[in-house]
Amino acid sequence: MSTTITWFGHNCWSIDTAGKTILLDPFLDESPTAPVKAADVKADFILVSHGHFDHVADAVAVAKRTGATVLTNFEVGQWLGKKGVEAGKIVGMNPGGGTQQPFGHVKFTIAHHSSSMPDGSYGGVPGGFLLTLSDAKVYFACDTGLFLDMKLIGSGGLDLAVLPIGDLFTMGPEDSIDAIKFLDPKRVAPCHYNTWPPIAQDAAAWAERVRSHTAAEPVVLEPGGKISL
Ligand SMILES: [Zn+2]
Repeated sequence: MSTTITWFGHNCWSIDTAGKTILLDPFLDESPTAPVKAADVKADFILVSHGHFDHVADAVAVAKRTGATVLTNFEVGQWLGKKGVEAGKIVGMNPGGGTQQPFGHVKFTIAHHSSSMPDGSYGGVPGGFLLTLSDAKVYFACDTGLFLDMKLIGSGGLDLAVLPIGDLFTMGPEDSIDAIKFLDPKRVAPCHYNTWPPIAQDAAAWAERVRSHTAAEPVVLEPGGKISL
């Protein structure tokens, strides 16, 4: 069974695998680059990396409409519960922890970032996601700076790594090259750039650097673009 990953701009992705749709960091209705609206996306599961608005914005609406199960950190999970997401549909995680789900294994990995909720309440510890699917291993770094432990995350082999390259709020293009060397994925896709002017980047130039400095194949998408694994 093949896996298809669609970029909805910023750090919002839809992963179709094993007959399920997994929506990561739903930021659609107010995203300047999202090609779809929150009312139009499918979700059996929703992954939320941390509490910032540009990651959690449409999580409540999509979770309520679809009945999707939400996997996120413990505190973001509690906040979603207070906003009306059914308690039985929330899986609260913490860094290093994993959970087996119908589509594969989900591990909540460390990230160097912050995680306050849109209303200012405590959003726990931010993270990324390491997905072990039936046919592929995929790592979404989500919002983070570079860290050496990416070597551990990549040690089991990765078919795809998804890295932020916007700089300012996350690692930028230069540190992403070191991240790719640590992770050693077969393919790498950039995200969290060109959403707004402060995180504008030249993705074609980034792809050239990836080709010349690492063994990974860069995959640069436009919002709405897909990667088949
Ligand atoms: Zn962000």
